Amino acid sequence: MRVPTYPDRRFASPPTAFEEVDVRGLEHDLERAVEGEVRFKPGDRVLYTTGGSNYRQVPIGIVIPRTTDDVVETVRLCREYRAPVLPHGAGTSLAGQSSNVAVVIDFSKYLNQIVEIDAGRRLARVQPGLILDHLRKPAEQEHRLTFGPDPSTHDHCTFGGMIGNNSCGVRSIMAQFYGPGPRMSDNVKELDVLLYDGRRLRVREGTSGDPEIDRRLVELRDRYADRIRERYPDIPRRVSGYNLDDLLPEKGFDVAAALTGTEGTCATILEATVHLVDSPPYRSLLVLGYEDEYEAADHVCEVLDAKPLGCEGVDAVLLEDMKVVGIHDEYLSMLPDGHGFLLVEFGGETKDEADEKAHKLMAELKKGGGAPKDMKLYDDKEQTAHVWEVREAGLGATAFIPGKPDTYEGWEDSAVPPERLGRYLRDIRKLAGKYGYESALYGHYGNGCVHARWNFDLRSEPGIRAFRSFLDEAADLVLSHGGSISGEHGDGQSKAELLPKMFGPELVEGFREFKSIWDHDWKMNPGKVVDPYPITSNLRLGSGYRPPQVKTHFAFPNDNGSFAHATTRCVGIGKCRRTDSGVMCPSFMVTREEKHTTRGRARTLWEMLNGEEIDGFRSEEAKEALDLCLSCKGCTNDCPVSVDMPTLKAEFLSHYYRGRLRPRPAYAFGLASKLPAVANLFAQSRAFKLAAGIHPERHVPPFAPVTLKSWFSSRPSVNGGGKRVILWADTFTNYLEPEVGIAAVEALEEAGFHVVVPAGHLCCGRPLYDYGMLDLAESYLRKALGRLGDDIRAGTPVVGIEPSCVAVFKDELVQLWPNDEDARRLSKQTQHLSEFLCEQADGWSPPILQRRALLHGHCHHKATGGIAPEKELLERMGVEVEELDSGCCGMAGGWGYEAGHYDVSIACGERVLLPKVREASPETLVVADGFSCRSQIEQGRTGRRALHAAQVLALARQFGAAGPPGAYPERAAPERPEAGPARAATRAAVAVGAAAALAGAARYAYARMS
Ligand SMILES: Cc1cc2nc3c(=O)[nH]c(=O)nc-3n(C[C@H](O)[C@H](O)[C@H](O)COP(=O)(O)OP(=O)(O)OC[C@H]3O[C@@H](n4cnc5c(N)ncnc54)[C@H](O)[C@@H]3O)c2cc1C
Ligand code: SF4
Ligand code: SF4
Repeated sequence: MRVPTYPDRRFASPPTAFEEVDVRGLEHDLERAVEGEVRFKPGDRVLYTTGGSNYRQVPIGIVIPRTTDDVVETVRLCREYRAPVLPHGAGTSLAGQSSNVAVVIDFSKYLNQIVEIDAGRRLARVQPGLILDHLRKPAEQEHRLTFGPDPSTHDHCTFGGMIGNNSCGVRSIMAQFYGPGPRMSDNVKELDVLLYDGRRLRVREGTSGDPEIDRRLVELRDRYADRIRERYPDIPRRVSGYNLDDLLPEKGFDVAAALTGTEGTCATILEATVHLVDSPPYRSLLVLGYEDEYEAADHVCEVLDAKPLGCEGVDAVLLEDMKVVGIHDEYLSMLPDGHGFLLVEFGGETKDEADEKAHKLMAELKKGGGAPKDMKLYDDKEQTAHVWEVREAGLGATAFIPGKPDTYEGWEDSAVPPERLGRYLRDIRKLAGKYGYESALYGHYGNGCVHARWNFDLRSEPGIRAFRSFLDEAADLVLSHGGSISGEHGDGQSKAELLPKMFGPELVEGFREFKSIWDHDWKMNPGKVVDPYPITSNLRLGSGYRPPQVKTHFAFPNDNGSFAHATTRCVGIGKCRRTDSGVMCPSFMVTREEKHTTRGRARTLWEMLNGEEIDGFRSEEAKEALDLCLSCKGCTNDCPVSVDMPTLKAEFLSHYYRGRLRPRPAYAFGLASKLPAVANLFAQSRAFKLAAGIHPERHVPPFAPVTLKSWFSSRPSVNGGGKRVILWADTFTNYLEPEVGIAAVEALEEAGFHVVVPAGHLCCGRPLYDYGMLDLAESYLRKALGRLGDDIRAGTPVVGIEPSCVAVFKDELVQLWPNDEDARRLSKQTQHLSEFLCEQADGWSPPILQRRALLHGHCHHKATGGIAPEKELLERMGVEVEELDSGCCGMAGGWGYEAGHYDVSIACGERVLLPKVREASPETLVVADGFSCRSQIEQGRTGRRALHAAQVLALARQFGAAGPPGAYPERAAPERPEAGPARAATRAAVAVGAAAALAGAARYAYARMS
């Protein structure tokens, strides 16, 4: 393989030459030498092409080391084969520093532990793959300590990456006033590093651990000392360039600080010792409203005099964008009057102490000229969190604004002295206006660091030329204000070419010498920071970007009708790499593999269209990347830019399987529903499960003797004069758990509604999406729309029992036919049962039940309206509800039944849900509206059965406020109806007669597919 390399190192140049690397030999030797994983296949390499940046470079291969020895071996073999190396954390960098044509060493999967917390000395030793919050949580809980610099990506970014980038964050101000300083370089005490030449060193203040390196560093420093003192701006957020200033005698010749921020270009970090600071247990948030963001910025220094823990800025454009995109609308009213805001956090040992500091500042501000228009103080944890969400919406609100061009990073973290911030904001907005660029301006105002996402045109030659010219002018502007090109994200490729403007050619030569001291082969993350690739090279889009236009089932209404655009939606934030909370992304939470993140899947689909590494809709790589996607819709809700992987997956599979047979379970469940009695006879046999591709440990749910529809049709009409409501008898409820449907009918009737259950075979087609059977799904939906047409045009509400089926009407339906009026009506008129009862059952009070309940929300329920009404309904009943942050249960329809998914499915459940259910007292109700979730709980060795909210209402009606006596309340829930004797005899005859047909059909399907 031809790998870019530098030409003659005596002369500054980007990597313009090429060197042959025997990649097969390297892969072979790595596989023998490394205990961890070695991944050199195209499907693995495409996952690491971009990070969070505008750039794309395909790595040589990926190594996921299990041990530090694995890292040492990897670097040794790379050296032997002369392959470049790129250390890698969560890959959230925005400047292009976390992609390269190199062997990527991904520390995040295994080397992610706290080695030690030394509370007495306020130090922590960490492995490079450790996520920041995984240190902050125990440090806080056990020692009331925390770590200062906290990037917005704190719940998934790693220490290796934070040190690599010299990261900062909201609480950099806290670290500045109450700790060692605002940047990572101030907060790192010691680093254990590995050089490309194989040397392992412990670097800290005073020494690199190697006398020869110390000698060369001192010599370099002395030669450049005057220039360093002259050219390095003395501001809190100077992140651009190498930290040569930390080598100065007045800074204690701090080699660890000097290596921080080198973005993987000098050494690989194997372990770090970092400083911890006190974490005040109580926080208050003061929000100051000004006329505009400029005025807010003008007053930052007065705020800083009060020594807060954080001081962030938000402008009116961000709020407008949030409104258009529909993010956190509900919290905007919590802001004070004004069009530019400062969010100022104070801490204290008590709530009063924190409040007192805020009140003092409010009084001070009122005294001086230019007092804020309005101020609001929050000290309630939940409310404070909501206001912070407004600030944190930043990238999600600005990346894809309907009706506006896409926006990009590239000039997103410049910083100036805080006292010049107001003037800089006015100037940068003016300059951007000259180019026709627009963006919100928000961020770490207290440290003078400004975030933006401009609508650059990165797809045409003139657009790219304008972008490049803007960067030149913007760099000149920020420097004229005494600032830094980067204030926290690093230089990578997007800013490195501008460094000579900031530091002058001499110091840039000093950077080259500094790198050579550590990496004399120039193989560490080449082309980044020093002798960089040009800003406009390696662009992921670029003027040549021309993805094929694909004829699709889904309309992709939020992506201008384009599947290709939907694959660009992922901007690489990496929130889908969270491990502890939310729904997105259950498969990553279990496997910790980039491939099993939403981002990994989106990248793979992008590459599939690009066609360079993996090819087209028949791509096995893409199929494999999507295999562990549970279609839980977690990403549609939790991803800041709403990447919709279930839709992309269903669309992909519909193309992938064109002319091919689907997996066996796709047919097995469908076949079984045609012959329910027969299925009940055979479904638990190993032979059936084997033939159907179902895991032997799974218990196939039996079909009920009487369906919901036949029960309903055999009873008299109730509440004839009441408001008409359609109860959607989904396939799961109708055939498998009619007792849940009956409870729903009775609850609605008790609330005074006239319930109608449409007769005949109607299905939303939920399971079909999972297998990409979209033609069939569309025909089901057409039939449903036809049958419900009059009712939905008359405005009759449709209530769903099963959340995943409600989600088809609320979501998939309008993704398929966004312009079909009936589809839009049905989508709007459909509600989950609890949502409907809370919003539309006027004058009805639910029956009382004084019990505790664990509530697990189905992920489709969370993605289509949320489960707040479910909680509200139960609380109105008097139930004491504990809502679980249990993400996806792991069953996901038929997905968790499949033999190849069983282990991941159970592991998803074991993360939170199943242990919580096991821990619950036997008297506690377990509430889960999803059929899959209830099945997972029942089959997950919990000894419990969960109930639908409708069944909880039935229990309350039947047993009164005290509920059923004794333990396991679910055992008292009303049973399913039994078939009468005549009906049972007929079903038995049909069962015996059809058994042969089913067995034959299963054998036939199996034979054709294997
Ligand atoms: C939405 C969003 C918000 C952000 N907000 C902030 C913010 O508030 N503050 C901030 O500072 N940044 C922010 N960032 C940038 C980024 O998240 C941080 O810089 C983060 O610390 C990077 O961590 P990572 O694990 O993703 O590192 P990666 O991107 O994987 O790596 C970063 C750099 O560190 C190097 N590196 C990684 N591991 C090692 C190692 N073991 N040895 C040597 N070098 C290594 C890499 O080579 C690379 O050059 C934001 C990014 C996004 C997308
Ligand atoms: S899928 Fe969403 S959360 Fe994940 S990296 Fe992409 S943009 Fe971020
Ligand atoms: S649907 Fe669920 S499993 Fe699939 S990518 Fe989204 S969050 Fe992950």
